[in-house]
Amino acid sequence: MRDVFEIRAQDAGGRVGDLHVPRADVTVETPALLPVVNPNVITVDPARFDEFGAEILITNSYIIKRDEALAERAREKGLHDLLGFDGAIMTDSGSFQLSEYGEIDTDTEEILRFQRDIGSDIGTPVDIPTPPDVERERAEDELRTTQERLELAETVDVGDMLVNAPVQGSTYPDLREDAGRHAYATDLDVFPVGAAVPMMNDYRYDDVARAVAGAKRGLGADAPVHLFGAGHPMMFALAVALGCDLFDSAAYALYARDDRYLTVHGTEQLTDLRHFPCACPICTEHDPEEVRRMPDAAREELLAEHNLHVSFTELRRVKQAIRDGDLLELVEARAHAHPRTLDGYRAFLDHAEQYETSDPASKDTFFYASAESARRPEVLRHRERLGRLSPEGHVLLSEGPRHDGYDDCWNVKPPFGPYPRELSELYPLTAEIPQNMDREGYEAAAKGIARLAGEHPDTAFTFAHESWPADALDYVPPRVTTVDLAEERLTGPDA
Ligand SMILES: [Zn+2]
Repeated sequence: MRDVFEIRAQDAGGRVGDLHVPRADVTVETPALLPVVNPNVITVDPARFDEFGAEILITNSYIIKRDEALAERAREKGLHDLLGFDGAIMTDSGSFQLSEYGEIDTDTEEILRFQRDIGSDIGTPVDIPTPPDVERERAEDELRTTQERLELAETVDVGDMLVNAPVQGSTYPDLREDAGRHAYATDLDVFPVGAAVPMMNDYRYDDVARAVAGAKRGLGADAPVHLFGAGHPMMFALAVALGCDLFDSAAYALYARDDRYLTVHGTEQLTDLRHFPCACPICTEHDPEEVRRMPDAAREELLAEHNLHVSFTELRRVKQAIRDGDLLELVEARAHAHPRTLDGYRAFLDHAEQYETSDPASKDTFFYASAESARRPEVLRHRERLGRLSPEGHVLLSEGPRHDGYDDCWNVKPPFGPYPRELSELYPLTAEIPQNMDREGYEAAAKGIARLAGEHPDTAFTFAHESWPADALDYVPPRVTTVDLAEERLTGPDA
């Protein structure tokens, strides 16, 4: 059990938790967003970060170390004074520079000691961020090096500074899983899923989802997970549902520099906006035309402030959704705003079985919002449970009213399938579903019928439906008698 992280509430793979950062004597509520601060290019003063809700930031110790004067000031004053921030401070090690420029002039021991000396609260060793799509051999070699560095990091005297254990493995989910298992076995503290930036820059949220799901399989449930380089609010809900607890945003500043305006649905160009679709102080006090006419520095700062507001607002929404038990409804809403987040959500659903184990058995009403809802973990769990129920004799499975001629009479509801009537008031069978169900919902329910019939070969079943599509009925095994209630009157089994 890792005592730096406590989970307070869960939904799907998402959790609200407390990350205890002993050196800063601060407890950070997760999911948390760490604004990235480049000490040489301050866009928004870190002293103001608490206006947005930031409890922790991240800066780069390698950039500081390379600049002798800055390094000296950091050693003397400490990072918190240098940046004017009294929350928790995480530092990166130069690994990103290594991936960008191919070499750096420091190593794990030296940079960890430097991070300790300048007062970092969470330090990082020099891991190898293997880019996506490389040959497997390279991904394996570089992962071995990263693992050696993590083992080395365990031996460095860092005092009460926490240390990151990055999880690499490129686009190979099984390597991510091995990497997660190895990192979790060290005594390091926080687990960043590394080298996701190139995937995120190309909006490859499905690959990000597969990498995170792989890492999560290797890591213990109590491991705090950081999705390194994830700063776009359009993917926070998805990334949290996948089990990420920390995010860092350089996007708020980098996008602002290019006149880009973040929203939870994607990115807008300031030049295209006639109205600000946002209720933050910046967007209520200014209009786009006014901001366009401002000098560069002022415009950049205002856009960066909006970008921070919209990002922290989305994180608060995500946290409330976890507490309410409707995180997947939020993920689904975000998924349907952009084809790439939809790809990401579908990749999450490919791992629904993995996430079913952490999903609460009972929560707020299940809303069937699109065909994707038919693949949610709750639907799989219900289907699984059908094996443990005991229907006997001749059982009517019906969308219509009961019929006295049968030994038992169960309800059928897409996308779940059949269930005993006494379960109808229990989650998730209280689900709100559309009047016009889609094919995927019917198919999922028909698979439930198939599972029930398969698990109980000695029970006879009649299925009475309201004109289900033929594609869905194809999933119902032939030994189940089907009756279309719109065409035939239901009679007893012996008629
Ligand atoms: Zn705004």
